[in-house]
Amino acid sequence: MTPVWHGVNDIEVILPARLRSNPGTVSRIKNAWLFAERAHAGQRRRSGEPYTEHLYATAERLCALNMGTETVMAGILHDVLEDTVVTNSELEKTFGKIIAFLVAGVTKLKKGDCHDSDDAHQETLRRILLAAARDPRILIIKLCDRLHNMQTLQYLSAEKQRRVAIETLEIYVPVADRLGMNIIKRELEDLSFRYAYPKIYVESEREFKTQFAKRYQPMMEAMGALKTHLVPRHIESARFVCRTKGRYSFYKKFERKQKNADVIHDVVTLQTILPTVADCYETLGLVHALWRPISGKTKDYIAFPKPNGYQCLRTTVNTGTFGVVEVQMYSEDMYECAQNGYAVKLALLEREDSYFMTKHLEKWFSNMLNWVRHIPSRVAVAGSTKGERQPV
Ligand code: MN
Repeated sequence: MTPVWHGVNDIEVILPARLRSNPGTVSRIKNAWLFAERAHAGQRRRSGEPYTEHLYATAERLCALNMGTETVMAGILHDVLEDTVVTNSELEKTFGKIIAFLVAGVTKLKKGDCHDSDDAHQETLRRILLAAARDPRILIIKLCDRLHNMQTLQYLSAEKQRRVAIETLEIYVPVADRLGMNIIKRELEDLSFRYAYPKIYVESEREFKTQFAKRYQPMMEAMGALKTHLVPRHIESARFVCRTKGRYSFYKKFERKQKNADVIHDVVTLQTILPTVADCYETLGLVHALWRPISGKTKDYIAFPKPNGYQCLRTTVNTGTFGVVEVQMYSEDMYECAQNGYAVKLALLEREDSYFMTKHLEKWFSNMLNWVRHIPSRVAVAGSTKGERQPV
């Protein structure tokens, strides 16, 4: 069967409903696609696919994050300055100042990508953050771009895979983390882990599977028990999710705990998503009435959100029959934020009038400068050393 590549009509289908319902918006976005299609004509990815498949994947992810017209357009056009003959002024003439600015911003980040010396990491991160300090949408586009590059990394040489994967762990995972974009962070992290440290990955995966097999069934039974207790309390519309720990996150914790898997209680986690904040506290009380909490393991991130805005209630309990279980309580809003973080806020801002966006960008800028002053230390060791090293 010949594969069918994505075209201009497929772009319309993936747009968030609020963009699709506006004919003017749809036609602007379609124009961006047709422009990119012409500019990249004849170019192929290493996979053999037309280059536009990469643009489609980037745009698809941005749409899934509910981004606005400008971000989606810039996502489609994000490689034209770097990889085609299109110039900045041509882009500006065709699509306006903002689109050209965003595309130029993403292009600048690309130039910061290469670094070989061991201490270049902080400098690269600093440069990337400063390049994106004027507009956070640049970072969101870049993360979606990088995610698709990681998803198609199998087509590159082993050495290139390792370099890109380590760079992703060092640069883009901390960015996604800082923005609270946990779903993308985890995908980037787990893909990078596999390519940056293939031998360790295989070992760790074996350990993970053993632990998962031990814990999954009891946790599902604990979930059933909690459900029966919530129903009479009129919290019927609660949703229950079994969350599996990310592979890289598991590996790091396993190392931190001196390879003692018995003290890792979040290989699978019981997540409850509840209608109101009051329901979260009520459910926490119920869980503690039902099972004995482990001392020091109850966290109120609703009253004390994490710096990236993450909120939930969290506790670890000893259920007896079902073993030790971590339970997390979220409202719908908190759950969305736990997954996509800052992108949720940004999606809302892109809908407001430009006054709010401008005000927000001023605040964003000073936050970025503050972050740049306190860049975290490296998470893994890059460099040209042969053989595989331990991620730290
Ligand atoms: Mn790209």
